[in-house]
Amino acid sequence: MAENLNLLTSTQNVIKTALDKLGYEESMYELLKEPMRIMEVRIPVRMDDGNVKVFTGFRAQHNDAVGPTKGGVRFHPEVNREEVMALSMWMTLKCGIVDLPYGGGKGGIICDPREMSMHEIEKLSRGYVRAISQIVGPNKDIPAPDVFTNSQIMAWMFDEYSKIDEFNSPGFITGKPIVLGGSQGRDKATAQGVTIVINEAAKKRGLDMKGARVVIQGFGNAGSFLAKFLHDAGAKVVGISDAYGALHDPDGLDIDYLLDRRDSFGTVTTLFDNTISNKELFELDCDIIVPAAISNQITAENAPNIKASIVVEAANGPTTAEATKILTDRGILLVPDVLASAGGVTVSYFEWVQNNQGYYWTQEEVDEKLNKKLVDAFENVYNVATTRNIDMRLAAYMVGARRTAEAARFRGWV
Ligand code: GLU
Repeated sequence: MAENLNLLTSTQNVIKTALDKLGYEESMYELLKEPMRIMEVRIPVRMDDGNVKVFTGFRAQHNDAVGPTKGGVRFHPEVNREEVMALSMWMTLKCGIVDLPYGGGKGGIICDPREMSMHEIEKLSRGYVRAISQIVGPNKDIPAPDVFTNSQIMAWMFDEYSKIDEFNSPGFITGKPIVLGGSQGRDKATAQGVTIVINEAAKKRGLDMKGARVVIQGFGNAGSFLAKFLHDAGAKVVGISDAYGALHDPDGLDIDYLLDRRDSFGTVTTLFDNTISNKELFELDCDIIVPAAISNQITAENAPNIKASIVVEAANGPTTAEATKILTDRGILLVPDVLASAGGVTVSYFEWVQNNQGYYWTQEEVDEKLNKKLVDAFENVYNVATTRNIDMRLAAYMVGARRTAEAARFRGWV
């Protein structure tokens, strides 16, 4: 039978198992199996050639029992309603795992920013905010960056919202430039979070990070910062890839050179002739693999050939349910996406707190608070996994779902 590669149904399956294990009734699953609200909008943009192009966008709000919903907005040609729904559910789990006072949200626009001018992207960003302005706000639903969106796009969205709202509302969106109320360290927060959980996982496996051989799939925002952090910490990054191919050097790649040469979408392998395929990348001799690109990369087909003892999911959904089972049965420590990639939303939360209090923290304060949040979250999930003898993904889902379920129960919803 073919593997289930559908993000929404695979997420629903794990949520169902987690709620069953926690002893909740069926009605709790009925409440949490889909977002409580999803808005679909059409956004007309006059393009540079004078023609009007109409884009489709979404904003999903999974559940606000704990607090306002929170999550990024992605600009990508493959965005679709189901994906946004699944990703909003993941945000509920992430916020629960790192204990942030939010529910999950997610947005997306079907577009290819790689083929658009800055001016067109600005108009699209502003149009999106106008279209969803009724359902978002600093105490309702707080957007942030995601795939192919960045601090400039957040700045345009913030400016548009402030015009609609008729006052400056920096807490409406996170991932802003520092001068507009952004937090120190937000841009590298996802990679920093991944680095923290890699260190914790390495400790559990008795692996010294100095000299540890790491393979990273993806050289975008998360993958590139991560390569830098691990390289600077003395690990050997022996493989990296982008959408076009992969590079391999058993003695460690020259990460600073590659960072210097990558374009703003993370492409670098096109500059080299001696590339390897993504399939070969996953089968390299190494200690740690970090999928930091797209979903469904580790499947029942390649999971048996993975040589690493630790897999840390920096991307969303890179490992299928069957592959999760294969890796866990092989004794490989799998740190799931909902835990490993929670650094971004954690520093987003710090940004929102700073905006609300109008008082800003130093990089050191942000680092210290982020470290504590993620180390505690890792320990918590690891303990649930070992005491209940279940895989780390199910353990993370149990920790993440429990908070929303409890909040919904106390509110009398279920
Ligand atoms: N897009 C990021 C995520 O998926 C960050 C969300 C946020 O900062 O709110 O976790």
